[in-house]
Order: sequence, then C-alpha cells, then structure tokens
Amino acid sequence: MVDPYESLLKKAYEQITEPSGTGERFTIPEVRSYIEGKTTVFENLTELADTFRREKEHVMKFLVSELGTAGKIDGNRGIFNGKFETSQIANGIANYFNDYVLCSECGRPDTRLVKDDRILLLRCDACGSHRPVRKRKAKAEEPAKLFEEGKIVDVHIQSVSKRGDGVAREGKFIIYVPGGKPGQTVKIRVTRVSGSIVFTERAI
Ligand SMILES: [Zn+2]
Repeated sequence: MVDPYESLLKKAYEQITEPSGTGERFTIPEVRSYIEGKTTVFENLTELADTFRREKEHVMKFLVSELGTAGKIDGNRGIFNGKFETSQIANGIANYFNDYVLCSECGRPDTRLVKDDRILLLRCDACGSHRPVRKRKAKAEEPAKLFEEGKIVDVHIQSVSKRGDGVAREGKFIIYVPGGKPGQTVKIRVTRVSGSIVFTERAI
C-alpha cells in the first residue's frame, strides 16, 4: 500500500516540477522535519532556500505565516512553535516555490526577486520575462470555511481518542473521525462544528 503522506508529497512535487526544453526536471529536495516537544524542527531549511537561491530568512518568514505560527532560525534549521506534519511544511514550501521562485512563463526556477519602485517582481533569467509576485490571501481564515457543516474534506488521522475515534488536527481544529486509524487520509463529511471541535462522518 502506498503511504498517504508519500503519495501526497509525490503529488505536490509533480505539480511543481516542470519539464524544461531539455527534458531535465527541477526537483525540490524533500522536506525533513520532526516534532520536538512543543515545537517542530525543519531540518533542511537552508538546503531548500539554497536550492531556490533565496534567503532562508525570507523562506522562513513565509512558512511562519503559512502555518499561522511563530518561529525562529537556528543555524540551518527552522524551528516552529507548535506541532506540524512534514506534509504541512512541504505544502508551504510548494506554495513558496510557486509564488517566489517559479517562472510562470517558461516554468523554470532560474529567477530573481527584484524591486521595481515598491513592487516586488520575479524576473526570469531563463526567458527574460517578469511578473509581480502574487499576493496570497491570509491563510488563517481558510480552515474555518473548510469545516462548515456538510462540507466534504480529506483529513489525515494522527491519533485515536479515548472513545476510539480517529483524531485529525488542522490549525486550531480537532476533527473526530469515527473508525479512523492513525496514518490514514480519509474523506469525511462535516456533521457538526462546536467551537474548534469538528464532528464528522465518513464520506464515500
Ligand atoms: Zn522564464
């Protein structure tokens, strides 16, 4: 069986690796992270930033805002307050790549950030095109909309509650999934939301 995390990563990478004219592919290094106490350590922050030819401070600032938390840089590592899945960090990295690295014209990552007046532009060394850096909407609101009654959502089960339900976490939300097993990614329908607690049933 294919590990759901693996397949998620694979999908994310497939979306952001574009074949170039010569058939060579740009591959984003895999994110390595682990949870340590109440923090999450992103081991290869510098490696990722170097691959993108971006400042690690810039990458970190973006990730912290994507994850809706605080964090700091410790040598080559980024440290986030709170517990995050590697897939969440990899998602943030994929978003960073799309917004701040990838040339939307030619699909190459050989770009630079340049300031033109007060506008931040992404200039491509490969094809010479440039575009304003896309402004992303604040992420913080998204989970709330995600967990409205009746919505069907994929969630990743991380643990099991005392009652035996699978438990997933998304931002401030705790999602209970009847019969869910840790490690599974399951499609659920939201049946009720009470504060940050989300009750669900399996959706087929
Ligand atoms: Zn280009």
